[in-house]
Amino acid sequence: MVSYSKLNKAARGWLDTHMGDHIRWNEPMARHTSFRVGGPAEAFFTPPSAAHLADFVQWAGKAGIPYRIIGDGTNLLAPDRGIAGVVINLRHFRKIEYAAEDAASATVTLRALAGVRLKVFCQFAARNGLEGMAFALGIPGTVGGGMMMNAGTQDGSMADVLVSATVMDAAGAVREIAREDFRFGYRSFSWESSAAGEKAILLAGAFQLQKGGRDARMLRKEARDRLCDRRRKQPIGLPSGGCFFRNPPEGPGAGALIDRAGLKGMRIGGAEVSAKHANFIVNRESATSSDILALAAAVRDTVRRKFGVDLKPEICII
Ligand SMILES: Cc1cc2nc3c(=O)[nH]c(=O)nc-3n(C[C@H](O)[C@H](O)[C@H](O)COP(=O)(O)OP(=O)(O)OC[C@H]3O[C@@H](n4cnc5c(N)ncnc54)[C@H](O)[C@@H]3O)c2cc1C
Repeated sequence: MVSYSKLNKAARGWLDTHMGDHIRWNEPMARHTSFRVGGPAEAFFTPPSAAHLADFVQWAGKAGIPYRIIGDGTNLLAPDRGIAGVVINLRHFRKIEYAAEDAASATVTLRALAGVRLKVFCQFAARNGLEGMAFALGIPGTVGGGMMMNAGTQDGSMADVLVSATVMDAAGAVREIAREDFRFGYRSFSWESSAAGEKAILLAGAFQLQKGGRDARMLRKEARDRLCDRRRKQPIGLPSGGCFFRNPPEGPGAGALIDRAGLKGMRIGGAEVSAKHANFIVNRESATSSDILALAAAVRDTVRRKFGVDLKPEICII
């Protein structure tokens, strides 16, 4: 059970009556995060349609019920005490379609719903000979999470290909946000109204990709090479949230600083600084969220003392 609650009897009743088939009560977040840690979400809601989601957000807004949207939880650290209120997951929003084609610029726009796995989207693009998603090969998670995090690598990010976003606002209204209104940052994405504090759910994104450069076989080979490279450099087999800290705006990256500070292999409880990639904290042995936070704090302190650099988390800490 969650150690504190945001859902009273009336709220539970509404959810049961209106969304009953799509709610799981006290759902362990450890099942929904790549760190494999986190206590229960009071209610875990997987809406089957945008109409259900709109009904929910309208009700939650009026009833003052807090909710949080997650994708595949590959960039999330959920607390051991659990999450009060409702956690929403868009696993039923999984469709990719051709939205537009422009012969003059040899571009194709694909529209993907937020719950589509980024891996599936990259495979779809490669199978159809479309280029532009190579940067995302091997990034786990969903299209929605990838958009929100402006996921990427040194080869590019979602900001390079995303041309419009479909969002649902707190009143349940759906609208398109055009590229001109996007505000991308390092692992962040917002738009005018969201930057002003509007709470919105990303429902879909439209991605403009290039046609015709290389054939599907060559794109598949590129994908294989990149995935091998990741496996060589990252502790892929162990639960983690990817890079824990953001790279500082200048100077050595976070991983290099942690490595130079001699922290590879450092352990608190079941959490460990990966010996393979110093910016990964891995769940080595039944870690708790508190173990991971304590280890991250120790890493941050040491790096600050040794190099005067204050590392900021890249992981979303709930
Ligand atoms: C092994 C490993 C390697 C990784 N490598 C990379 C990498 O190379 N580059 C990189 O950028 N990241 C990397 N990551 C981090 C992570 O995969 C990305 O940030 C990913 O895009 C998160 O997607 P997700 O669906 O898991 O989002 P989640 O972790 O579930 O959520 C991330 C954030 O987005 C919000 N969110 C999710 N979906 C929606 C939605 N539909 N509407 C509104 N908000 C939403 C959540 O509330 C949360 O704040 C890696 C992670 C792991 C575990």
